[in-house]
Amino acid sequence: LVSREAHPSSSIVKIGNTEVGGDTFTVIGGPCSIESLNQSLDIARVVKDAGSHVFRGGAFKPRTSPYAFQGLGEEGLKILRKVSQHTGLPTVTEVVDAGDVGLITEYVDCLQIGARNMQNYRLLKEVGQGRKPVLLKRGLSATLEETLLAAEYIYHEGNHQVILCERGIRTYETATRNTLDLNGVAWLKQRSHLPVLVDPSHGTGVRELVIPMSRAAVAVGADGIIVETHTNPAEALSDGHQALTEVMYQELIKEIMPIVHAM
Ligand code: PEP
Ligand code: MN
Repeated sequence: LVSREAHPSSSIVKIGNTEVGGDTFTVIGGPCSIESLNQSLDIARVVKDAGSHVFRGGAFKPRTSPYAFQGLGEEGLKILRKVSQHTGLPTVTEVVDAGDVGLITEYVDCLQIGARNMQNYRLLKEVGQGRKPVLLKRGLSATLEETLLAAEYIYHEGNHQVILCERGIRTYETATRNTLDLNGVAWLKQRSHLPVLVDPSHGTGVRELVIPMSRAAVAVGADGIIVETHTNPAEALSDGHQALTEVMYQELIKEIMPIVHAM
């Protein structure tokens, strides 16, 4: 169902009023985690003023260590709703548990399935039974074929609002957090009609590499990027080392727009 053979023209998915796919290049920005209302509003202002389309922020965080900040939960969802009301930006947040899908659906415009849950089939079926758009991230060690089959689970349940996201995979390389697989983006665009985003923040894990890999994402034909940014990265409760500063976020947009227009 998600292959080009099944559906030759490219699909467009709507997050709130924002179209993802087709001729548009979508920029999603925001912090890794929702930490407070003020933090979120400050960052959302940066994201919006730079001309981005969607605000991201985690409320339920899938952390590698059980001792790391786990997110604000429902309080974070309430903050996301307030940010959307204040700025007009639609929102995306991660769902880590099938039992939370109903709750999160009430607060945000798009549900993110994180890399660690790409093959959580119970969760895929649950979001597939709803009608909220789903941003499906590639698993840390998932093949491209497995990624498409995970999307197929959602699609098959009746939810056709699926967006794929390349966020880097595990390789032998240790200089970067992950290896951003831009081969995979080109391959997915050829094999599937679904929009494909790139996450250069988790793909590299290094703030200084986010802008160059964003430029590359545009050039390879991605439908958009999802980028972590923070007004005070040194104090961020998660992923501060890969968060763009406010100045870098503005620079990012300035650098990618000419490439977007040239495509
Ligand atoms: C995130 O977007 O903050 C996140 C945890 O992403 P991933 O699932 O790709 O690691
Ligand atoms: Mn993160």
